[in-house]
Amino acid sequence: MPMINLKLNLMGLQGPSNKCDRCGLSHFVDLHDMCPHCSDLDFADLQLLLEQQTENTQSVKTLGQYMLVGVIVVLMLMVIFI
Ligand SMILES: [Zn+2]
Repeated sequence: MPMINLKLNLMGLQGPSNKCDRCGLSHFVDLHDMCPHCSDLDFADLQLLLEQQTENTQSVKTLGQYMLVGVIVVLMLMVIFI
C-alpha cells in the first residue's frame, strides 16, 4: 500500500493531465500549454504519429495474446504433471 500512496502523491505533484483532441495522447497542463506530442507536427506527420500509435497498440495486443496462450499452456502442463 505505501507504493500506491507514493504513486498517487507523485501524480498529484505533476498536476492535472489533459488529453489532446488532435493526437489523443495525454500531457500535463502545468508543464505544457500546447501538446508536446503534436503541436509542432503538420497534418502528414500527425498521420504518421497516429499510424505508429495504432501499430504499437496492435503489437501490445499481439504480445498479450501470446502471453495468454503461454499461461494457458503452462497451466495445462501443471494440471497434467501435478
Ligand atoms: Zn497532441
